[in-house]
Amino acid sequence: MKAPDTAVGPLPPIEAAVRIPVRVDTPRHAAMAPTLDYLGERPLAAGTMVRVPLGRREVWGVVWPEPGAAPGGEQEAAGSAAGGPSPRGDTATGPTLRPVREALDLPPLGDAWRSLVDFAARYYQRSAGEVAAAAVPPELRALTGVALQRRLTRLHKREAQPGAAEASDPPVSTEAPPALQAEQADAVAALLRALAEPEGQPAAWLLHGVTGSGKTEVYLRAAEAALQAGRQVLLLVPEINLTPQFEARLRERFAQRRLVSMHSGLTPAQRLQSWLQAHLGLADLVLGTRLAVWASLPRLGLVVVDEEHDPSYKQQEGARYSARDLAVARGRLEGVPVVLGSATPSLETWLNAEVGRYRRLPLSRRIGDGAMPRVRLVDMGQLDAGRRSPSGPQGGLSPALLAAMQQRIDAGEQSLVLLNRRGYAPVLHCGDCGWKSGCPHCSAWRVFHKGDRTLRCHHCGLTEPVPRACPDCGNPDISPVGRGTERLEEQLAALLRGRDGGAVRLARIDADSARGSGQLAAQLAQVHSGDVEVLVGTQMVTKGHDFRRITLVAAVNPDGALFSSDFRAGERLFALLMQAGGRAGRDAAQAGRSELWIQTFHPTHPIFKALVRHDFEAFAAQQLDERRSAGLPPYSHLALLRSEARSLDAARDFLAEASRLLRDDPAFAAALQAVTLYPPVPMPMVKVAGIERAQLLVESSSRGALQRLLGGWLPLLDALRAQHRGVLRWAVDVDPLAL
Ligand code: ADP
Ligand code: ZN
Ligand code: ZN
Repeated sequence: MKAPDTAVGPLPPIEAAVRIPVRVDTPRHAAMAPTLDYLGERPLAAGTMVRVPLGRREVWGVVWPEPGAAPGGEQEAAGSAAGGPSPRGDTATGPTLRPVREALDLPPLGDAWRSLVDFAARYYQRSAGEVAAAAVPPELRALTGVALQRRLTRLHKREAQPGAAEASDPPVSTEAPPALQAEQADAVAALLRALAEPEGQPAAWLLHGVTGSGKTEVYLRAAEAALQAGRQVLLLVPEINLTPQFEARLRERFAQRRLVSMHSGLTPAQRLQSWLQAHLGLADLVLGTRLAVWASLPRLGLVVVDEEHDPSYKQQEGARYSARDLAVARGRLEGVPVVLGSATPSLETWLNAEVGRYRRLPLSRRIGDGAMPRVRLVDMGQLDAGRRSPSGPQGGLSPALLAAMQQRIDAGEQSLVLLNRRGYAPVLHCGDCGWKSGCPHCSAWRVFHKGDRTLRCHHCGLTEPVPRACPDCGNPDISPVGRGTERLEEQLAALLRGRDGGAVRLARIDADSARGSGQLAAQLAQVHSGDVEVLVGTQMVTKGHDFRRITLVAAVNPDGALFSSDFRAGERLFALLMQAGGRAGRDAAQAGRSELWIQTFHPTHPIFKALVRHDFEAFAAQQLDERRSAGLPPYSHLALLRSEARSLDAARDFLAEASRLLRDDPAFAAALQAVTLYPPVPMPMVKVAGIERAQLLVESSSRGALQRLLGGWLPLLDALRAQHRGVLRWAVDVDPLAL
């Protein structure tokens, strides 16, 4: 942490000083408690943001009385002796408390916001100070009072300007919103009742409808009502860059309101500005990715989580929270309705709706009676071996599919071909000696990228030029095995022709092609303009883009997910394919002609059977059956304890010791009755960037029992780690997405 950029002069001598409890960013289980006592001249309200000394640094903190303690700072400060702040309770033995350096001139963070932080810290087993610090923009934590004043002056100046709305804002829409369909009207009515009468409402509302069924219109109506009641609205989306149309619709409908966005793509200054606008109540709508669940919103009235099943709502480092689950918790703490929208709800959400904890609001049809795309399963087992192979004459694409795509091209329509693997080929191989392009640092192959002729590890980033010959035996004839999006693009270019008889106009969108921020937008614009005849992409392109002219979507190799060790792979595949299919034929004019093609070796798999009928309920019922009999979520609750070390043995030993610690301690005997500890195992991808990783699964049918056990156990592990020198890190993941 850098030193403060303005020196703070000595405070006037303190006469009747008061004790101020402050949460600062200290790691959980550190020797220091998360709430430290400081001295102030006068009591500060709970939630006040302050700058306080911590060791030799000055850090951001929040005034945070312990629940049940006397209101902030009203006790006489006690203590005497030198040194830094100390754990609470040490005051009797007496280090002198150090004074608060300054209180930031901002309204305090609200009680509900602090409750959310407390809840998340408890649930995800982190320190509340750490969670609080991670929940605000880094720029805010670095601000001194002087710098803050400069920002606020600028902010208020902008607000005061007539027509403060940015120049890029769309004009006020002259079109009246459409008259609601019956199911939409029912959904909106239920939400309006919940807005008016928070008592006795379900924990969340599940708005269940396919792409194009009018979910967004329902969000807009509910948001409108909340805004009219003087409240703020929080809308969460999985990824903003991929869904510019959602933001555009919000801006158009609410042109008179202030909308701010919050996501990791903003500059630090922009993020701070959005945060301040929300916190000061100047912004009416906040649209953001998972981090926006932490926005401070003093007048919050409604929370919407779009595509609630999307895995990107789960944070994968630090406090590994689910923004979807925290949104529901936040709704409960603030007494405001939460709407979860999806065509393919997560099984957790679906079960919650089945048992009545959530209420389902179904939208069973597409607007304008647009038909769902016809699903065509291509049995790849029927193709002869040469054609099946990605290096065969048809490049592993069925002739029927190629013909259907050619038809679309000739009719001036677009096709989207999905392949969830970027690069040219996932591995290079030497036929003579068997060498493969492994990564020396990871248990993974390095992927061949033909564009820049590199071998790249997608896990640690190691990138090297492709060797001219086999590094082991010198054979110059090393060949790509398998297929990624680059190769698919090349194959399609060879197998299709453009409408004008020339080369087919192809575009490829994946994490490689969309590296720069402007690049993705430019590519998407190209697709929208109709310039592109065939679009090749990874799941990125299925995320919410409304491609009006796409009438054919094809998944050319989705089988990997069917037999994955990841128990959620099937759920994700179904969602992906439903969502991909939703990209096709949204225009009524094209209804009936739009198709979703799936190349598979397992055409009778229950996932595909349900997909053919667009039958999410059948799919969910089948999956829930499987999960119930396997004792998996949502019927059980999981946590993973992970450790990372230079050697796998070290990583595993630590977990084994941790497990023994628990079993040998009679204090845990009762808790262990309701919880199962599994033996430590290597992680599925055991080595990344030279570090070996192991994990231990903890499972219980009772969330409470699991929480209690973790709460008692994890605090012991830092001391244990000190005895395991080889262990670099350990962490716990509550409700992990994958095992
Ligand atoms: P979803 O969010 O479920 O994909 P949308 O709300 O985007 O669905 O609706 C799909 C399309 O139908 C949009 O173009 C939207 O403007 C339009 N639409 C939504 N509701 C109605 C309605 N009641 N009447 C006419 N058009 C509607
Ligand atoms: Zn070789
Ligand atoms: Zn690597």
